[in-house]
Amino acid sequence: MIKINDNYLKLPGSYLFSTIAKKVSAYQAEHPEAEIIRMGIGDVTLPLAPQILKALHEAVDEMGDKETFKGYAPDLGYRFLRETIAREDYQARGCKVDADEIFISDGAKCDCGNIQELFAADAKIAVCDPVYPVYVDSNVMAGRTGVYDPVTETWSDVIYLPCTMDNDFFPELPKETPDLIYLCNPCNPTGTTWTKEQLKVWVDYANAHDAVILYDAAYEAYITTPEVPHSIYEVERARTCAIEFRSFSKNAGFTGVRLGFTVIPTDLKSGDASLHDMWARRHGTKYNGAPYIQQKAGLAVYSEEGKKEIKEQVAYYMRNARTLREGLEAMGYKVVGGVDSPYVWLHTGEMTSWEFFDHLLDKAHVVGTPGSGFGPSGEHYFRLTGFGSYEATQKAVERIKGLV
Ligand code: PLP
Repeated sequence: MIKINDNYLKLPGSYLFSTIAKKVSAYQAEHPEAEIIRMGIGDVTLPLAPQILKALHEAVDEMGDKETFKGYAPDLGYRFLRETIAREDYQARGCKVDADEIFISDGAKCDCGNIQELFAADAKIAVCDPVYPVYVDSNVMAGRTGVYDPVTETWSDVIYLPCTMDNDFFPELPKETPDLIYLCNPCNPTGTTWTKEQLKVWVDYANAHDAVILYDAAYEAYITTPEVPHSIYEVERARTCAIEFRSFSKNAGFTGVRLGFTVIPTDLKSGDASLHDMWARRHGTKYNGAPYIQQKAGLAVYSEEGKKEIKEQVAYYMRNARTLREGLEAMGYKVVGGVDSPYVWLHTGEMTSWEFFDHLLDKAHVVGTPGSGFGPSGEHYFRLTGFGSYEATQKAVERIKGLV
């Protein structure tokens, strides 16, 4: 028999979005006349901004010229991009992050999924509940999560931090001490955020307990509230306990282009072992770096024109999110998100998340994401996204209004 990593076999059921896709295609097959509005998955819909497109074209041309052709990229990323990120995203906000502490990659999903390799097989993870599924599933694959209970939909060796309307989406500190704490701010799926003061509670806790915070800031560009930090390094002493993930997917529409980065401060150590050096070693061994063409496009994101263009795109999605939030609130739904995030998270009342999904699909022909798919505390919640067109968003709100 072939000796496989049988941790993969422990992963329950099919992935949330494939279940949704199957349900939607079955419904469409039965109701071919239904004009379905998809507000389920978190993919962007606007085309790339002109400055990004220009940079991509120029970089492609460079690859076709003997003088400017580029082969293997540096494992950790091109200097031009690492220096720009350090200056624009961190130093400009008063964060002490150096270009050498930035690792360019092809996106935050891979980095969030792969980072757990740096930690012991018996390291205990804590995740918010509901949560972006990659954090838990990547640890399942590594054999770190224990036994799955299909009734409670939880893993025996994972510490869950419920985030619901009851605690204003700010979890209590855990009773059992974790080694790794996954935090996502602004949060996918709830669209809620924590202030710098709230985040400090977790940074202090992690420093006091030798835990590492794995901080996902993929939605940083959507922050509008001044008290919400754009980086965990805005919090004092985060350099000794936190790794930060960023993405170009949601701020600049790179979901199909692929680019992201991870920050590992050189101060983050386990005894003499530097996590920064370990990740650099991993990149050197297992990764050939993000392509030059994408990194040049990433640089264009920070040009004056580029910044202006992507800000307009983010504002477009945020107008959608606002339309959803305000429309739903006016109908009497309890809603969070949509202020610092493209996601709107609503309470489904008596209906379960999947009942609400079916109800919305059948009666309004609107597709969203059942909250229970993100964890047990997501039950009775539902996610809608602002990533569609403004017209479709307005239409969806009107149709939902018709149900009340
Ligand atoms: N982190 C969170 C919280 C996300 O919601 C997503 C994508 O939806 C990602 C990371 C993935 O980002 P990327 O496209 O850079 O891999």
